[in-house]
Amino acid sequence: MIDYHVHTPLCGHARGQPEQYVEEGVRRGLAEMGFADHFPLKALGYAPRNPVTMEPGDLPAYVENIKRAAAGAPFPVKLGVEVDYLPGKMEAAAGILEKYPFDYVIGSVHFVGTWDCTHPLERQEFQRRPLSELYRDYFELIWEACYSGLFDIMAHVDAIKKFGYRPHPEHLVPLYRKTASVLRETGICLEVNTAGLDAEARELYPSTELLRECLRQGVELTAGSDAHAPAQVARHFPQVRRMLQKEGVDRLVTFTGRQKGYYRLDGGD
Ligand code: ZN
Ligand code: FE
Ligand code: FE
Ligand code: ZN
Repeated sequence: MIDYHVHTPLCGHARGQPEQYVEEGVRRGLAEMGFADHFPLKALGYAPRNPVTMEPGDLPAYVENIKRAAAGAPFPVKLGVEVDYLPGKMEAAAGILEKYPFDYVIGSVHFVGTWDCTHPLERQEFQRRPLSELYRDYFELIWEACYSGLFDIMAHVDAIKKFGYRPHPEHLVPLYRKTASVLRETGICLEVNTAGLDAEARELYPSTELLRECLRQGVELTAGSDAHAPAQVARHFPQVRRMLQKEGVDRLVTFTGRQKGYYRLDGGD
C-alpha cells in the first residue's frame, strides 16, 4: 500500500521524527509514503483560535527534513503538504508552494468560517445549529476547494462527521452526489483516510456510501493514515486494501512533481 498523509512535529500536535515514520512504514510493508504536514496558515494572514499548523518560517526546514528522511528510505518518500481551504487565500498559498518541489498538494476543510469543525475544543457548535445546515456549509467549502485549482487530492472529505454527529441520510445523498461529480469534473483524487476509524465517527473518511458514489462516477483514489505519531502509519491498511479490492478498485494514484502515476493493488503484497 501507499500512505500519502503523514504529519511531522512541525505542526505542533504530532510526535516523532520523519525517520521514525519511515521506519514504521518499512515495518508495515509500504511500497511508498508521503508526508503532508499542515501548511502555515499565518502565511495567509489567518490565525485560528486553536493553532494547528506549522509556522511560516518552518517551511524550508520541513522540506529539508523530508528530503533527509527520503534519502535514507528503502522506498520512495514523497513531499506533500496539507493546505486548509480558506476562501480567497488559495492564490497566495500557490505563490508560496511554487517555491518548493512538492510532489502533491492535499486540500482539506477544517474551517467552516472561523469554526474548526474537527477540533475537540470547538465541538459544541454541533449542538448550536441543525446538522443538515452545518453539513451543507461544510460540503460547499469542499466543492469550492476543488474548484480553487490548488489541489491534487482532497483529504478526509467528510471529516465533519469526526465526532459522530450526522444528519439524517436524506440530507447526505445530494451532498455525496455533488461531491463525487465535482471531484470527477476537476480530476482531483479522493483520499481514503483511515483516521476516521479511530475517531468517534468509527468509520473511514469517506463513508462507504460516499466512496461508492465516487467510484460510480469514476473518481480516482489515494490512501492516507493521517498519522500524527509513527505508530499510526498505515493504520488499518490491510483491512482497507481488502475492502477496496472488493469494491473493484485495482489501483491508487501516486504523485511525482504533481504528475499522476499508479500503484497497483493487485500486484501482490
Ligand atoms: Zn493534524
Ligand atoms: Fe486534516
Ligand atoms: Fe492531516
Ligand atoms: Zn488531516
